[in-house]
Amino acid sequence: MKTHVKALVVGGGAVGTSIAYHLARAGWDDVMLLERDELTSGSTWHAADLLPYFNMSYATTHIHDHSIKLYKTLEDETGLNAGFYVVGNLRMAQTDARMDEYRLYAATAETVGVPFEWMTPDQIRERWPLVRTEDLKGALYHPTDGYINPADVTMALARGARQRGVAIERRWQVDGYEWKGDHWDVAVTKMVEKGGNLVPSDETGVIHAEHVVTATGNHAQRTAKMLGIKIPAIPVEHQYIVTEPDPALVEYRKTHGEHPVLRDADAKWYVREERGGWILGPYERNAPARFEYGVPDSFRADLFPLALDRIEEEYMSFIHRIPSSEQVGLKDDYNGPICYTPDGNPLLGPAPGLRNMWLAEGFSFGITAAGGAGHYLAQLMVEGEAAIDMASLDPRRYGGDWMTTEYAARKNEEAYEHVYILHHPDEERPACRPLRTAPAYDRQKAMGAQFGCVNGWERPNYYGPLDAPDSFDHDGRSFRRGGWWQYAEAEAQAIREEVGLIDATAFAKHRVFGPGAAAFLDWFTCNRLPKVGRINLTYALTAHGTVRTEYTIVRLAEDDFYLVSAGAWEAYDGDHLRRAEEDWFATHGGGAANWFGVENVTTKWGVFAIAGPKARAVLQEVVKDADPASVLSNARFPWLSAREIELGMCPVRAIRVAYTGELGWELHHPIEMQNYLWDLLMKAGAAHGLKAVGARAQNWLRQEKSYRAFGNELGRDATPLEAGLDRFVDLSKHFYGKAAMEKTGIRSVCVTLRIDGPADADPWGREALYLPDGTRVGRLTSGGYSVAFGQSIGMGYVRPDLAAEGTALKVRIMGDLWDATVTCDSPYDPKNATIRADG
Ligand SMILES: Cc1cc2nc3c(=O)[nH]c(=O)nc-3n(C[C@H](O)[C@H](O)[C@H](O)COP(=O)(O)OP(=O)(O)OC[C@H]3O[C@@H](n4cnc5c(N)ncnc54)[C@H](O)[C@@H]3O)c2cc1C
Repeated sequence: MKTHVKALVVGGGAVGTSIAYHLARAGWDDVMLLERDELTSGSTWHAADLLPYFNMSYATTHIHDHSIKLYKTLEDETGLNAGFYVVGNLRMAQTDARMDEYRLYAATAETVGVPFEWMTPDQIRERWPLVRTEDLKGALYHPTDGYINPADVTMALARGARQRGVAIERRWQVDGYEWKGDHWDVAVTKMVEKGGNLVPSDETGVIHAEHVVTATGNHAQRTAKMLGIKIPAIPVEHQYIVTEPDPALVEYRKTHGEHPVLRDADAKWYVREERGGWILGPYERNAPARFEYGVPDSFRADLFPLALDRIEEEYMSFIHRIPSSEQVGLKDDYNGPICYTPDGNPLLGPAPGLRNMWLAEGFSFGITAAGGAGHYLAQLMVEGEAAIDMASLDPRRYGGDWMTTEYAARKNEEAYEHVYILHHPDEERPACRPLRTAPAYDRQKAMGAQFGCVNGWERPNYYGPLDAPDSFDHDGRSFRRGGWWQYAEAEAQAIREEVGLIDATAFAKHRVFGPGAAAFLDWFTCNRLPKVGRINLTYALTAHGTVRTEYTIVRLAEDDFYLVSAGAWEAYDGDHLRRAEEDWFATHGGGAANWFGVENVTTKWGVFAIAGPKARAVLQEVVKDADPASVLSNARFPWLSAREIELGMCPVRAIRVAYTGELGWELHHPIEMQNYLWDLLMKAGAAHGLKAVGARAQNWLRQEKSYRAFGNELGRDATPLEAGLDRFVDLSKHFYGKAAMEKTGIRSVCVTLRIDGPADADPWGREALYLPDGTRVGRLTSGGYSVAFGQSIGMGYVRPDLAAEGTALKVRIMGDLWDATVTCDSPYDPKNATIRADG
């Protein structure tokens, strides 16, 4: 066995094998894969073979698309048949809401170019008469997907990898990792069979690996322990049953082709043909998490006992949908561990806090995802960035210290149970909540707040009726305008006309301080640094010159900076800052003059944003100063500046910015004084019509000002210049990613659109954009409603020649094309008169 490699892949399931294959394909010629048992002996061997295209996420849809295309080519490349049956995939809908979900999904599919067709119940019955259709509304049909043999595809990938020089070693277990500054020393042990068990032998070794990828499936908790990090990948039981041959199906197949994979999402199951019978795979309630603290040594390619009572409801609905199945008995059953993560997406990318360590863990559709996951992870590792924005899969989205095993296990059970629920874009999942609450939580709840969850924090989405039942938010969810819409509208109006108070405590906050801080930040971000007491908006870029993080930087002193970034990305931003700090010291030395520190101060500071024409009047009631009348004036507190002020007895770091685009201040305050400040502001604001406002209204308002949001308009798909943020890029200085940004040029441009949409729906920011002649020319990245214009609004990317103000486009909302017009940047108050208003 090799002892020195460029990349070591740990785990020989579908995912690890694909990564080894793709690393070799990307040009790394010194790759080794270690598997503690046999290839495919983890979850891969008992997968039900399905390859569902369907996914509401742009990145994951790309990944699945790549897999499906790759698997079709593997036989030509390797001579091994991957057992791909392109039978299509029929997603049936029992309700109008489910049809709406498919319409929204089709919008994502269209932006990626995934083929699909709509079918009526009559068309389904005509083609597949064994399927009962009278209670269906319709279906979405994917002609190009189907199912594949997981072992065959893994073996084909393994052969392809070997042909490209990858060494694959079975029966070697990784037992420890040690970072040596420029490589990993990986301790390994030869595994042997003993009494049917796999046990360590005395033969051990150490592999010197420049990079390591872990793809250890159900063993992720052991991997986490060895690495000293948290990996919220914990498996949940998943079962499927195989029936005896169904005589009606056997008869039908004499004259017809195979059924597509059938999915009755409202009944929570998938079904496909298997040797004249059926395979039924339910996603039932109460499936338990397993192996929370590791996989027992005795568990190899084993299964759990069938829990038939748990899937009775799904079984009955299967018989209802395919009545001939009532006559057939059960032939086989599988109940195996299927790995999940709290949001159901895998963890694919750099391991939090570690160098050259890459995670490929938590795959619940690992057969479907393996091809694309290998492809894009190899790009990340070899080229520094992937061709698609992988942030939604980045393992550091869960890197926070607050996350526990208990949290991950309960959330993963929820993610499993939610596979077939209606995936409303305004969905908020209930498990493990409330967990991280700012002090004002109870006060907000008493005022009717309906909360969303950001990085574990509870954050008001909107304030509903005071007497709302617990199910109010859930019952009001929709793919169109949900029950919350009218409350968000009133809140947005309040900010435009009077004044509103938003809780933004979840913001990520870091302090960068010390003699070397300014030089470091000047290199790390693309805008010029603010002067003391001023702020700027700036971006940290990727190696490809695209946007990695958006920061508001406040300069507290010459060598002391306060960085505010998106709440959802606290761990990701923190990890990136610390890596950049290490890189800086490595190249500039860590001497006294260069030294600086990075401190995560997120939980020390609460944040309220007060905004609206009357914001100054409210603050003037409570501000303490020798001259309270002038302390908030433009002369003493201009737009884009920061000051320490006192509101009653609360010391406040006030920043004159407003993400809503109205006169306003962010009030950063000691978190332990939050309730005092909340009460003070609410009392003072009563006479001015102060309204508590949630995140949904804020999201609409920022689009009226063309303010880009990280994860929507801003990400690794576009440079700040493509995002139209030239005024925040100082081209006269040197900064990380600059050359790549300039080389990339302008591939597409971020625009804001006013949209004449349907009366009952707004875009969500996933819809495709077209020319009036129907040619697809871009996609939305945000969407919502504008109270200023009384119509839908959206932001997105189009070809540069279509970015001019007044360009007429179309956007597909809920299946139909609607008129959309490109506006100027910041269509509401383009001259920033209200935000700069004096007083
Ligand atoms: C009943 C069931 C049905 C399913 N159906 C489908 C389906 O239809 N379609 C689909 O896409 N997905 C399906 N899945 C999910 C799918 O099986 C998994 O997502 C996929 O197999 C994950 O592959 P993997 O390579 O990540 O993990 P695994 O296949 O579990 O591989 C991980 C490997 O790592 C090895 N390993 C672990 N630790 C070490 C170590 N320290 N040293 C060396 N080796 C190590 C293990 O031995 C194992 O072989 C199903 C799952 C279940 C349970």
